[in-house]
Amino acid sequence: MIDRTSFLFITLDSCRFDTFEATATPNLDALGPLHRATAPGNFTFASHAAMFVGFTPGLAQAQEPWLNPKFGKIFKIVGGGYPSKGTEFVTLKGKNIVDGLKRQGYTALGSGAVGWFDDSTLTAQALTQDFDRFFFSGNCWSLDKQLQWMDEQLAGLDGKKVFVFLNIGETHVPYYYEGAPWDREVNPCRPFADDNDAQECRRRQALCLQWVDNRLGPMLERFAHANTIVCADHGDAWGEDGLWEHGIHHSTVLEVPLMFRLQHAPATMAGAGAAARRGVVSLAKKVRDKLT
Ligand SMILES: [Zn+2]
Repeated sequence: MIDRTSFLFITLDSCRFDTFEATATPNLDALGPLHRATAPGNFTFASHAAMFVGFTPGLAQAQEPWLNPKFGKIFKIVGGGYPSKGTEFVTLKGKNIVDGLKRQGYTALGSGAVGWFDDSTLTAQALTQDFDRFFFSGNCWSLDKQLQWMDEQLAGLDGKKVFVFLNIGETHVPYYYEGAPWDREVNPCRPFADDNDAQECRRRQALCLQWVDNRLGPMLERFAHANTIVCADHGDAWGEDGLWEHGIHHSTVLEVPLMFRLQHAPATMAGAGAAARRGVVSLAKKVRDKLT
C-alpha cells in the first residue's frame, strides 16, 4: 500500500461539466460532491501548465480553500514574494508541483494521452520533464495501456510517497474508447466544419466517460486512503454560438467538473492541510476576517 500522503491527480481531457453531471460515474462519485468549476485555460497545455503551479479549476465566488485556488490552493508553490496564507492543503518549494513534491521525497509518475504530452517533442517538456517517469500513450484511446503502465510502476513503491498524474484522452475528440461501437475516424466535433453533430458529441462523450469510470475503479481504490483530485482541463463547445471544440474562450469550454478527496497532507510541509477540513475552513475564515 502506498503512503497515505500520496496523490492521484486525474484530468479527464475535454470533459464537459454537463456530460459529467448527466453520466453515471459511481467510482468517481465516491470521491465527494461534484463541483461546477472554471478551468484555468482553454486548451490542454495552458490548463495543465497552470494546474502544475497550483491553479487548479475553481469556483470564483467560493470563499473556501481548495474549491477556489484564489482563496486557498490544493498545491501552493511558495516563493520569495508569494508566501503561504495558511489556507493551502500543501505548500511546496520548486519550479512546479511535480518538482516540489519530488523535493519532499515523492516519486512522480505521469502518463498523458493527448498530443501536448508527447514527450518526444520539445513543447511537451514543460509538462513532462520533471516526472521521474512519464508515459505518453500515443493516442487518445489507450487508457488500459496507461493504467497497466502505472500499475507496473506502482508495484515497487509500497509504503512510498507517490504523485501519480493521469491525463485521460477518451473524453477528448473524437470521443472514442478501444472497442467502442462507432467509427473513430468520424469526428462529430471539428472546428469550422459545417457537418458536425452536437447530439452525437454528447452521446459519445457520455459513453466514453462511463467507460473511463469503470476502468478507473482499481486505481481510485488504490488511493482511497490517500488524496485524489479529478477534473477536466477544459470542455468543448458543441455548436454554442457557432463554435466547436476547445482552444477558444467560451463559457462551455471553461466550465469543467471538479471533485476531490483530500485526507492526508504531508505533515512536514502542510499548510492548513494537516488539519481536518472543518479546521481548514475555520482557519481560512479567520485569515479572511483578518484581511478584511
Ligand atoms: Zn485538453
